[in-house]
Amino acid sequence: MAAEAESLAFVMVGHIDHGKSTLIGRLLHDTDSLPEGKMEEIEEAARAEGRDVEFGYIVDHLREERERGITIDTAQTFFSSKTSGRDYVIIDAPGHKEFIKNMITGASQAEAVVLVCGVFEGVQEQTKRHAYVVKLLGLDQVMVAYNKMDQVGYDQARFLEVKKDMGEFLGRLGVQPTLEVPISAKCGDNVALRSENMPWYDGPTAVEGLDLFRKIPSPTEKPLRFPVQDVYEVDGERVAAGRVESGVLTRGQALRFLPGDQLLRVREIVQYGRDGVERAEAGECIGLVFDQADEVPPRGRVGYPEGEAANMTDRFRGTVFWLSPAPLEGEGAGLTFKCSTQEQPCRVAAIRERIDSGSLEHLPADAGRLEETEVGELVLATDGPVVLESFYDVQELGRFVLLRGRHVVAGGIVTHTQDAAV
Ligand code: GDP
Repeated sequence: MAAEAESLAFVMVGHIDHGKSTLIGRLLHDTDSLPEGKMEEIEEAARAEGRDVEFGYIVDHLREERERGITIDTAQTFFSSKTSGRDYVIIDAPGHKEFIKNMITGASQAEAVVLVCGVFEGVQEQTKRHAYVVKLLGLDQVMVAYNKMDQVGYDQARFLEVKKDMGEFLGRLGVQPTLEVPISAKCGDNVALRSENMPWYDGPTAVEGLDLFRKIPSPTEKPLRFPVQDVYEVDGERVAAGRVESGVLTRGQALRFLPGDQLLRVREIVQYGRDGVERAEAGECIGLVFDQADEVPPRGRVGYPEGEAANMTDRFRGTVFWLSPAPLEGEGAGLTFKCSTQEQPCRVAAIRERIDSGSLEHLPADAGRLEETEVGELVLATDGPVVLESFYDVQELGRFVLLRGRHVVAGGIVTHTQDAAV
């Protein structure tokens, strides 16, 4: 557990075919982080199929194993940096849409970002949309890897040209990269080993760049929030199960559950494989038994420390990334709002802003619609009250999805928990 606590999670993003998988494979290989015999296995498979070994196959292979359930971890790959000894978790985002959805819904919780940009093609649309999502989610640690330098003869002028384009876009977003490094994932230049092909570059390698990222502390110092996921019966006792999303919960503490306003005292914290648990921190999954045994709060209620003011609302503002090919029109008939374990039918009371996430162009909001990949500043109204936080205060109670039926059509973050103005 200690090593895991120290590891840093980053996500690899960028336009399709710019070399994300290849870079992941190269990182694993050059840091000797592949499982024993894995490279030989991949080489063998490539030979049998009569094709060259590509580093990207390592990632395809790992993905395949995950799909077949051979490896347990979902969409995560690990490696260690030899220079710092730090462990890394690479969050894998196979497709463009999946990536945006995973990032916005919090399925992928990255602390930092590696933005891969192929220098031959330069800055492309998906590169920009990914950078936009990264910024929206408040991720401010971004390393840009300018890949495929071998394809342009390791030409410094081309590197500087693409870097300038990228700088212009990132500058408009307010993103300041921690490092910009020219690499070739295919040939291994400046990934883990310094390149002799680019004597004009004397900055850190990509791995040294990762070592510059700061570890983001888990939100234990934030106020306590405990959304109830489900109610179970364990040994004849009713237990409210869920994850502590922020703060610290202690045995004996009085919690107020909203909506519904129940004041309950925690008699016991139940955790698998542990006895006499006195406290649980952000990120831990637990069950709670209360003194008031017959008043267990149902799924969707959120526990707060007694006496703390709650943000209960049925009208609020959010920045929403529209993900469905069917646009949002008018009030968005048949939408369901889902935040943490809370679900409520909802409607769009207003579209205040409309932005093209690729060009950052502001579009006329009065068009009354939002198309796929557009971003909108929406005023949302739910049928019943929900307990929310601004995303920048407590992430898990500040990110949401909009569903149509069971399909996610949009993902967003809460920017204002009230909208008194409209
Ligand atoms: P992804 O879609 O971003 O994951 O891209 P891949 O890693 O699958 O790479 C797409 C293609 O670009 C593959 O054919 C790779 O071999 C090739 N590629 C990746 N990195 C490099 C590089 O540094 N140099 C060259 N010449 N080709 C590369």
